Amino acid sequence: MELTINSKRVSAEPGMTIYQAAKKANIYIPALCYHEALSSMGSCRLCIVELTKGNRTKIVTSCNYPVEEGIKVVTDSERVLKNRRMIVELLLARCPEVKIIQDLAQELGVKKTRFRIDEYKENCILCGLCVRVCEEVVGVGAISFLGRGKDEKVDTPFHRASDVCIGCGACVTICPTGCIKMEDIDGNRKIDRWQASLPLQRCKICGKPVATRKHLEQIKERFALPPEILELCPDCKRNYYKKQVVAQGHL
Ligand code: SF4
Ligand code: SF4
Repeated sequence: MELTINSKRVSAEPGMTIYQAAKKANIYIPALCYHEALSSMGSCRLCIVELTKGNRTKIVTSCNYPVEEGIKVVTDSERVLKNRRMIVELLLARCPEVKIIQDLAQELGVKKTRFRIDEYKENCILCGLCVRVCEEVVGVGAISFLGRGKDEKVDTPFHRASDVCIGCGACVTICPTGCIKMEDIDGNRKIDRWQASLPLQRCKICGKPVATRKHLEQIKERFALPPEILELCPDCKRNYYKKQVVAQGHL
């Protein structure tokens, strides 16, 4: 199907979102809560665009709005930019020290926020990426949105260590603000935000931590992998395979 984005004719597959169609056509739309491997929530609202269908024009979030034949989309109209600047001001008030938000503010010409700065600098923008990666990719669902309105937050049930968290760190990696801290100390992986402390499995050769035991158990259950994949750290794994290749006369 065909649509127009910023006066450019763009082709898209049915089922794609406006955001994906724009990306395919190299048209930039900012977003903090989007990841191509996950379902879309439209929670940060930065990806808003102006959509015209027939004689009606409205603002929609492009990351979860499906493409339609003949629609006209504008990603950077004055109305869109005005709304986007206000969203960035709200994010700046919530997380004034977060680099990715400072960069977005600069990109949009926002010098300061008119909203009251959040003194409890938790730096979570409620984008939901951690919740979705844990549920949809890791297959665990250890964290979720809790509370409503200004009390809404992402946490484990009852703010207690989750029985199902495997300490894989996917939530840490995907968090755009870096507000989930993970540390491997004294043989345990600690993720304070989720009250998690999980024993680490050490590499059978060098003793470096490989992953948490729970994470390795989950991998073992899901995939039939040779033991060296699970028992060795990346460096020792590389050396192990190099030796195998040499022993088989391929080098
Ligand atoms: S570390 Fe725990 S909460 Fe984070 S993605 Fe992995 S299982 Fe989920
Ligand atoms: S903790 Fe990070 S990934 Fe999770 S909702 Fe907050 S900002 Fe997003």
